[in-house]
Amino acid sequence: MIEMHDVWKIYPNGVSALNGINVKIDRGEFVYVVGPSGAGKSTFIKLMYREVKPTKGTIFVNGFNVERLKERKIPLMRRQIGVVFQDFKLLPQLTAAENVAFAMEVIEAPRRKIKQRVKEVMELVGLGDKLNQFPNQLSGGEQQRVAVARALVNHPAVIIADEPTGNLDPETSWDIMQLFSKINDQGTTIVMATHNKEIVNTMKRRVIAVEGGKIVRDERQGAYGYED
Ligand code: ADP
Ligand code: ADP
Repeated sequence: MIEMHDVWKIYPNGVSALNGINVKIDRGEFVYVVGPSGAGKSTFIKLMYREVKPTKGTIFVNGFNVERLKERKIPLMRRQIGVVFQDFKLLPQLTAAENVAFAMEVIEAPRRKIKQRVKEVMELVGLGDKLNQFPNQLSGGEQQRVAVARALVNHPAVIIADEPTGNLDPETSWDIMQLFSKINDQGTTIVMATHNKEIVNTMKRRVIAVEGGKIVRDERQGAYGYED
């Protein structure tokens, strides 16, 4: 599903964010990416959906050779990857349903199909009754649910999340994590950078620890392993 071979990232300012990453993530896995601030977690995550291009190395995501992808093929690749951010990144002038629908409109899905699928994913994330609310009328947890619905709407093979619970209180974080777990149970691969020690330690999923731009630990049923 996801493979990286000797991947390096040196930013234009000379910062070496990743220093030779080799990793293989299989279909259906749930992977936590942990490590101190500045370790390279975000860069690792951003490489997977071509937000960042590697300086060196090869990246495959769901059959796409990501670093060699032509600009015009990027949307096709991103359709198969759902991305969830810490700050939700919803469009404030659109309702919850419209935010989710937007992801299908850009791929020119038929109107009737969009309506049906938006309702279906909004129900899956537990917001079947909030379709017409605007983001500022929703709680942080509800906004993140909308973002998860948007990430899911095009049936992606993988969902990539960068600190999705970073702006949420502990109880809401748990709700969101249960939601990711449910999505994973339905077969979607999940890769998530997180600082949430309690959740990582409780879920006992695969844990990849990154420090100084290198993978320093990769455990099948791992623990968080840091004090913060
Ligand atoms: P630009 O070409 O617009 O100056 P940069 O590549 O410098 O863009 O930055 C792109 C994004 O990364 C920006 O959001 C910026 O705030 C962030 N960024 C820049 N430098 C760093 C850094 N050292 N650590 C973390 N984020 C950074
Ligand atoms: P983490 O997510 O683990 O905090 P990042 O991948 O954001 O780590 O950052 C890894 C390193 O790369 C840090 O030293 C950070 O300052 C730097 N960095 C991140 N983004 C940029 C950028 N756009 N331009 C320059 N340096 C960056």
